[in-house]
Amino acid sequence: MSTVDRSTAAHVPSSSRRDDPPRHPVGGWSGLADRVLDGEAIARDDARAVLASPDAELLDVLAASYRVRHRFFGNTVQLFFLMNAKSGLCPEDCGYCSQSKISSAEIPRYNLLAPETLLDAARVAAERQSKTFCIVISARGPTEREIDAVCDIVPRIKERHDLNVCACLGLLNPQQARRLAAAGVDKVNHNLNTSARHYPAICSTHTHADRVATLEACRAAGLALCSGGIMGMGEEPEDLVDMAFELRALGVESIPLNFLTAIDGTPLEGSDRLSPRDCLRGLAMMRLVNPAAEIRIAGGREVHLRSLQPLGLYPANSIFVGDYLTTPGQPPAADYAMITDMGFTITRGREMAV
Ligand code: SF4
Repeated sequence: MSTVDRSTAAHVPSSSRRDDPPRHPVGGWSGLADRVLDGEAIARDDARAVLASPDAELLDVLAASYRVRHRFFGNTVQLFFLMNAKSGLCPEDCGYCSQSKISSAEIPRYNLLAPETLLDAARVAAERQSKTFCIVISARGPTEREIDAVCDIVPRIKERHDLNVCACLGLLNPQQARRLAAAGVDKVNHNLNTSARHYPAICSTHTHADRVATLEACRAAGLALCSGGIMGMGEEPEDLVDMAFELRALGVESIPLNFLTAIDGTPLEGSDRLSPRDCLRGLAMMRLVNPAAEIRIAGGREVHLRSLQPLGLYPANSIFVGDYLTTPGQPPAADYAMITDMGFTITRGREMAV
């Protein structure tokens, strides 16, 4: 993220032009929460102000986002479990990704895992109290064989475990989306990652519009949508605001917010510039723009929030338990302890109807 002068930016009255400094919300942070709780959609200026808020007001910003989170989710936390079902070997060139063709990161590379391995992973997900089992493959989009394999395994997982299943298979066409829905997939993950404006800076092999088209195909097929982004890829605060509003316009139910782990061997190597407080502002902004969405603290949680991890659960109501795709998470026991220490509880409800 670019640096914002926090000593002045939040208090300069202005119009809402892109280059103007953000203005402090009318009625302060508490007034902003009141408006959201009254059903009012916040303005872009308010979202920009959250990202530019001074450190001295961070607790007030978090309190505002927590009031909104509490309205929709109480003090519950939903756990997600990621299974990297096919690793590396991807022909795309996403600059943040260790699995792309242009990455020289030292990661495991393998083709789609055997059904028994996926079933065993689902068992672990259930044992860890996950609500959702996420099957992820590295790909521009799935082959017919991969779609067949996912459609075959999902009913078997659901037969054995009370888990929602989310599929993250890359770009999907309407027919593929319908097949996944018919097989019992609850939700598809396909992250917007950043704004349309910033997208060409992180990927040249597909477009932001391609990603939106996949989400629209999934929505049309009756699938719930999981889509979020990554902070820390050299974007401007405006890009994060654009993404948050686009997710709102798409009616996305589940929003993972990642914090870039700049992996050696990727084009973004060495570009970790986020502070834990920036991450908290990002989560709070995402909550206030998307009040009823599940907001998940995703990859980079441990690395970037560090000792402030628990505070992230004030705006967010969800985390991954276990490892990320190619980077380690903290031990599950540390996640459970954090949730308990916060006075929160784990919930495992079925997916909400779309
Ligand atoms: S399409 Fe997915 S797996 Fe492939 S490079 Fe991009 S983020 Fe990585």
